[in-house]
Amino acid sequence: MTAPENRVIPASNFTRFLEAIMAEQPVIGPRERPDQPGFYRFGRLARAEDFAPDYGTTTVPPKKTFAALREKLFSFTLDSPPELDLHFDSSPFVLLGIHPCDLSGIDALDHAYSQPPAEVRWTANRRRASLIGLDCRPDSYCFCTQVGTESNRNPCDLFLTPMEDGYLVEVHSDAGAALLEKADTRKAGEEDEAAAEQWRREKAAGIVPEFDAPVEKIADILEVGGLTPVWKETADRCYSCGSCNTTCPTCFCFDMVDDIEPDLSGGARYRTWDSCQLLDFALVASGHNFRGERWQRVRHRWQRKFLYLYRQFDRPYCTGCGRCSRACTADINLVDVANRLIAAAQKEA
Ligand code: SF4
Ligand code: SF4
Repeated sequence: MTAPENRVIPASNFTRFLEAIMAEQPVIGPRERPDQPGFYRFGRLARAEDFAPDYGTTTVPPKKTFAALREKLFSFTLDSPPELDLHFDSSPFVLLGIHPCDLSGIDALDHAYSQPPAEVRWTANRRRASLIGLDCRPDSYCFCTQVGTESNRNPCDLFLTPMEDGYLVEVHSDAGAALLEKADTRKAGEEDEAAAEQWRREKAAGIVPEFDAPVEKIADILEVGGLTPVWKETADRCYSCGSCNTTCPTCFCFDMVDDIEPDLSGGARYRTWDSCQLLDFALVASGHNFRGERWQRVRHRWQRKFLYLYRQFDRPYCTGCGRCSRACTADINLVDVANRLIAAAQKEA
């Protein structure tokens, strides 16, 4: 589509816009947790007022909307062969308020899951959704500018930049244009564009953590020797709890679990999110564990995000969201570890 002009939704019209969408389809967006004020999660909005546009981040990324934490793949009995459940919900919904880093996370998983054979559940759920992005303010853990996601728009349909009295709206697809027809908008003028640009400048200026080398160099650094002391120091603090994986918007490893009836007459197979930091992740039937040492698991997570998938897809599988550092029970910070790796590699060279 040709890039349409940007529009402005005044704040007084935004609630009506949301209500018009919600009259036709569910809207999932960031909501404050009633049990933990100050913390947010993506959930279905019951009322337009539930939308929390000023949320900092959510603990769990919005990928959970498309890839359930635990889902049944098929049931089986002793008497009949298993039949895959390939009847997916096709009803549309809107995912609202996705920050640029989390759009990048969805984009990363779109790429990974579309490799042949495409992942059918992710693909089916993604087809149902219209995505409305929202620009944000960073906290001390965010480092999107270091991985180039701060202005990412893929794969959103509409993108909102907050302004003093409403939002500047970018239209990125025909589906987005159709959604925006429900809103009372005006054409964005020079002052509106300048206000949005100012927002983006202030956001970039608010990013504190910095890599001591360009992100493209980290793959090369991970291939040089002499990094084992950094892995071991990091592993000495790590609890192998897996929080860094389960909060990550680009992690997609999973486990298969069979739930068998007590009388062994049948059961069901489930797919669940998994974590490469857990002790049994690389344990195989013979009893051998390919990454039985904690430092090997720590190293693997890094190699996966900044080396293997970087080489395969030409982008780091890290969006700079900072969730792993925020959630880490041992206060291990991804940017700190990166800079220790960079320093060790420079010493080695
Ligand atoms: S590795 Fe950490 S900072 Fe990077 S995308 Fe995952 S959770 Fe976010
Ligand atoms: S969240 Fe922290 S302590 Fe837990 S596995 Fe990840 S690095 Fe280790």
